[in-house]
Amino acid sequence: MKRGERRSPVGSRLHPLAGVAQRRCRELHPRTASAVAVACADCWERAIRDDERAVVLFGLPREIEPDPTYVDQVAVELAVAGHKPRLTAVEEVEAVAILLRRGWRDTRIAEWLGIRPARAVDLRAAATASKTRTGTEAA
Ligand SMILES: [Zn+2]
Repeated sequence: MKRGERRSPVGSRLHPLAGVAQRRCRELHPRTASAVAVACADCWERAIRDDERAVVLFGLPREIEPDPTYVDQVAVELAVAGHKPRLTAVEEVEAVAILLRRGWRDTRIAEWLGIRPARAVDLRAAATASKTRTGTEAA
């Protein structure tokens, strides 16, 4: 991933520091804050400078790379409940493992998760394999 590729621009509500800038602005410049989308330029600058200082002081990574092995349990629970959220590959495996434990068949799992039947078969194989690996590690 290219540096900053997914980061929203300064000024956007989706910028990682929008909440920080907005809180500061509402507190210090309530009149200005009510007229701008997020915060005034001064508050944005302060939030960004403070963040930069924390990065330097504590030696934090500048961009947080997504961990490919991270499983968002809430997303998995939503999928199992039938809400069809976007899942990563490892989350799909986790959701399939849960449905397999309920005794569901591949076709039902595929329909429920909104994936192709062939994909469900692959995920079942992966879920079974990871279960075996975990069992070996535990032994
Ligand atoms: Zn402000």
